[in-house]
Amino acid sequence: MNSNPDVKLKQNESEKEIAEKPLIDIHGKRKDGRESGDLRKIKIEVGVLHRAEGSCYLEWGGNKVMAAVYGPREAVPRHTQNPLRAIVNARYNMAAFSVDERKRPGPDRRSQEISKVISEALGHVILLERFPRASIDVSIEILDAEAGTRCAGLTAAAVALVDAGIPMKDIPVACAAGKIKDPKQNEIIVLDLGKEEDNFGDADLPVAISPRTGEILLLQMDGHLTQEEFEKALDLAIKGCHTVSELQKKAIIEKYGSMPEAK
Ligand code: ADP
Repeated sequence: MNSNPDVKLKQNESEKEIAEKPLIDIHGKRKDGRESGDLRKIKIEVGVLHRAEGSCYLEWGGNKVMAAVYGPREAVPRHTQNPLRAIVNARYNMAAFSVDERKRPGPDRRSQEISKVISEALGHVILLERFPRASIDVSIEILDAEAGTRCAGLTAAAVALVDAGIPMKDIPVACAAGKIKDPKQNEIIVLDLGKEEDNFGDADLPVAISPRTGEILLLQMDGHLTQEEFEKALDLAIKGCHTVSELQKKAIIEKYGSMPEAK
């Protein structure tokens, strides 16, 4: 960390330079060497925590995420209980040390929004009717953030739910697509935006699906896409989801030897 104002200025200048450089070259190579349809490297480990009922550690490019599941257990306070079904409380949290400038600890509007959309997405596949009055708590801790953390967080949470033995119709999975410019100012749809692409790109479309049925569980958009671009980005994000889904299954099989049957 350097608090010298001259150094700060230089850092800002280099940020400006970065912003002006195209994020993809005329041959379709992105700054990190990926092609438009490539994902960043993903690593998934199942059941890494001993005290949680289920857990998952996931690395996705520079993102590092820990997800832990507690429950089903009696929902408290009692007024939050639903007599017919369980409630899902996913809590997304970015660690103070997960970003370049220390993030103020604790919930903010962004983390509340992400917690809400992830809770709803997971609630669509969990067999909630089996656990009336219960809550299923999912902690998603972002230890290192490098764009795409909501997709990484949801993907890790889904694996942690499997590890906890929570009955689900399917294992949900998420991936984003976005739009960046090449040197000729052509708009290119690419899979899985990296940090610079997220900061200086033109649009980001995180998507979560139930891979077995193709049902969309989460769809958000940041930036502008034409209808044609939107359809292209959605198709690409769904393709990415299916690739990540295979990695989820592989990690579960590595831990348990076989996949639990979808209920
Ligand atoms: P996602 O992580 O799902 O892509 P956003 O588009 O909101 O969500 O954030 C993109 C990236 O911006 C994050 O992954 C993180 O690297 C960075 N970021 C988000 N919030 C903060 C913050 N409060 N301070 C610093 N960087 C942040």
